[in-house]
Amino acid sequence: MTREIRHLVVIGTGLIGGSVALALRRAGCVGRITGVGRSAENLQLAVDLGVIDDFSHDVAQVVADADMVLVSVPVSASADVFRAMAQNLPADAVITDAGSSKQSVMAAAAEYLPNPSRFVPAHPIAGTEESGAGAAFAELFDRHWCILTPDEATDADALARVRSLWEATGSRVMQMDAAAHDEHLAAVSHLPHVAAFALVNAVRKSGGDDPFRFAAGGFRDFTRIASSSPEMWRDIAMCNREALIAKLDALITELGVLRAAVDGGDADCLLTEFAAARAARDAWLLKYGDEL
Ligand code: NAP
Repeated sequence: MTREIRHLVVIGTGLIGGSVALALRRAGCVGRITGVGRSAENLQLAVDLGVIDDFSHDVAQVVADADMVLVSVPVSASADVFRAMAQNLPADAVITDAGSSKQSVMAAAAEYLPNPSRFVPAHPIAGTEESGAGAAFAELFDRHWCILTPDEATDADALARVRSLWEATGSRVMQMDAAAHDEHLAAVSHLPHVAAFALVNAVRKSGGDDPFRFAAGGFRDFTRIASSSPEMWRDIAMCNREALIAKLDALITELGVLRAAVDGGDADCLLTEFAAARAARDAWLLKYGDEL
């Protein structure tokens, strides 16, 4: 059964924070929702769209009345947010987040929150390349996974309440070790974003009047995520460096294999590599396509 939230404070009322607010409203399990951010324009838009009831720029003041706090800012801003809320946070308030990397956020929570056991780290595996409250929609999380990464110190009541919150958004909730999360997501999320940015830059720098002139659907599909927020992805890359470097090395190795085959005219190698990749992708879609 969904647990009622009396006063939810959403710090970072963007795509993810706004969509959580809308999804919880849809579920009918939240009373008041207060948004926090730096830009009054984005927060006023969130009020106008019915995402939040009111807003503040003062984290410390507004969390004093919260029973649930969602931190949904770029991951590198988490430490400042935790520090700002520390003094006024009610002892029984529960905190969750949406950050795309987990170990760095958990380290910040351990350092700055008065009672880190009330913090339950979360990462909803859903998103778009858009940003801000105007991009938020209630259905964003429907049937998608949300990964919780509690540790042995996490309070059981806080964990139950956060699980209930994310289930109310429409997510399917699973638990995972934070290091395993960062390793898996480096491969299937962080690496593709870096690769998409790199591919667009490679074409951009390839010369000619207008290198994008004849780009078609394949280029658009491959590079959709290069339209994501540069600041957000800079932060994710910086906060998950070790795992990301290992995945980047693996990609560079694969590109090296293909480069050598093209250079050496090794058609068999290209066919083998391309066929293996197609088979792996087809098998993935067959097994998990319904979850996308
Ligand atoms: P977003 O649309 O850009 O929203 C982030 C919000 O945080 C903005 O409204 C911004 O508002 C606020 N903000 C930025 N810096 C801040 C700071 N220093 N202090 C306080 N507020 C700040 O980004 P998002 O896509 O919702 O991402 C939020 C979190 O969810 C990130 O940690 C991201 O890793 C994670 N996530 C994203 C996706 C995705 O696909 N987008 C998916 C899963 C998880 P102001 O500018 O007004 O401060």
